Amino acid sequence: MTQQLDTNLTKAEQFLSKYRDNTLGHYIAGEWTLGSEGKTFDNLTPTTNESLGKVVKGTQEDVNQACLAAQTAFAAWAELSGTERKKILHRLADKIEERAEEIALVESMDCGQPLRFMKQAAIRGAANFRFFADKSPEAKNGLSLHQDDHTNYTLRNAIGPVGVITPWNTPFMLSTWKIAPALAAGCTVVHKPAEFSPLTAGILAECAEAAGLPAGVWNMVNGFGEVAGKAITEHKAIKAIAFVGETTTGSMIQAQGAPTLKRVHFELGGKNPVIVFDDADFDRALDAVVFMIYSLNGQRCTSSSRLLIQNGIKPRFIEALKQRVESLKVGHPLDPETEVGPLVHKTHYNKVLSYMDAATQDGATIAVGGRALDELGAGNYLTPTLFTEANNSMRVAKEEIFGPVLTCIEFDSEEEALQIANDTEYGLSGYIWTANTGRAMRMASKVEAGMIWVNSENNRNLPSPFGGVKMSGVGRDGGDWSFDFYMETKNICIAHDTHNVPSLGKH
Ligand code: NAD
Repeated sequence: MTQQLDTNLTKAEQFLSKYRDNTLGHYIAGEWTLGSEGKTFDNLTPTTNESLGKVVKGTQEDVNQACLAAQTAFAAWAELSGTERKKILHRLADKIEERAEEIALVESMDCGQPLRFMKQAAIRGAANFRFFADKSPEAKNGLSLHQDDHTNYTLRNAIGPVGVITPWNTPFMLSTWKIAPALAAGCTVVHKPAEFSPLTAGILAECAEAAGLPAGVWNMVNGFGEVAGKAITEHKAIKAIAFVGETTTGSMIQAQGAPTLKRVHFELGGKNPVIVFDDADFDRALDAVVFMIYSLNGQRCTSSSRLLIQNGIKPRFIEALKQRVESLKVGHPLDPETEVGPLVHKTHYNKVLSYMDAATQDGATIAVGGRALDELGAGNYLTPTLFTEANNSMRVAKEEIFGPVLTCIEFDSEEEALQIANDTEYGLSGYIWTANTGRAMRMASKVEAGMIWVNSENNRNLPSPFGGVKMSGVGRDGGDWSFDFYMETKNICIAHDTHNVPSLGKH
């Protein structure tokens, strides 16, 4: 064990000990509660599969209480001026920053993401709050639309209490991405974090409390998707659902929300292509290809899990790629040297491992990795894996694996690259590496995805739209797109008193 790992483990233990001694409850109407039944589940760390402590299992009644609290708090929060909301949300960002080290350590232990990446979690979370806090005073802004005899103007009002349901892959950051614009718009929130990684959502609620957010504006209910999550999507008080998770869960939520006509925003799965042409900058493309699938344990919606590689560059690129994948440092997430940590949960780990057999059965080659790393202990460790000699009809090219596993497929021409890239049910992101600007622009326009990066890895710009097409999502996050989702547009039409009002009954 390195000295730094030892130090980090000791620090993490200081923060984690409270969960061993106390059940993590819900935060409803400004109070911490163990809910209507007080039933709990064990929250396991992927580093050893041992329990970090008990978490309360939310019931339909717990969700009901949270939704009613959000409904009660809505009018006052929505009517508060944007400038006041801005102040409170900046205070919330301050509280997050004060606890940045704790958030990073707890998040790493809870979901297995290496500390080198989770160090950014709190900083990025706080930045999300600051960005939307600053936009809060202008959230109501609309358009002025003129006619000869009338002037129309639009304004936006917060839609009402909203449900936010999040996954386990980068739980803290993703929650703030949804909750910050919702609060800035004037909505109240019921949040359900993923059952595999609930701890930092609790810290986030504590930050909200410490920042003086009025009771009921932000409520957090722990528990399982099929009970607590489902109850949020079905509750009459909830006007919209912002959901991040699997595509199949997204369709379930759409059906569950249909009777109450929920507005939905979905960020779902992906099988994103990174397309490397012969004329690409070799070293930069190699760095990005490795980074975009092996960082965050490959548990990242925008990961480029299909490498489409042009034949001319292929032998040299694959050789260099193999060396890099073999050299990746797998280890404890709190070790600062670790590049790939344990996968979030045994169930997910077994699913990822099942693709090793699927690859060979379908005729791909396991060029690197392909096995469990039992020598690292009882955690969910596996070797970063590279499949070569694959084609796009294989399961490893079609299905979202959501682990540190890359599938390489070769192509000859631009047309073939485009055909392979689009031959998927998903459409979240795409990455294009070429020195030819015309080709980059043609491909960027034709690859079916919500987001394209040219000669770059994933780079997030908060004012830009984020989201997918096809089975990867509905709607966009970011900048004003977020306010469009969390707010209703109202049109107001004022006459100039110059037109003839139709008059009836004057005979
Ligand atoms: P998941 O769909 O299993 O769970 C996500 C959340 O939904 C959890 O909180 C879960 O409890 C809840 N849930 C489950 N069933 C529900 C139901 N019937 N009603 C309401 N809520 C329910 O997803 P996951 O396994 O936690 O996360 C991994 C997935 O998330 C991957 O597919 C990944 O691509 C996707 N993801 C997408 C993006 C994006 O921006 N497109 C970002 C991150 C993750």
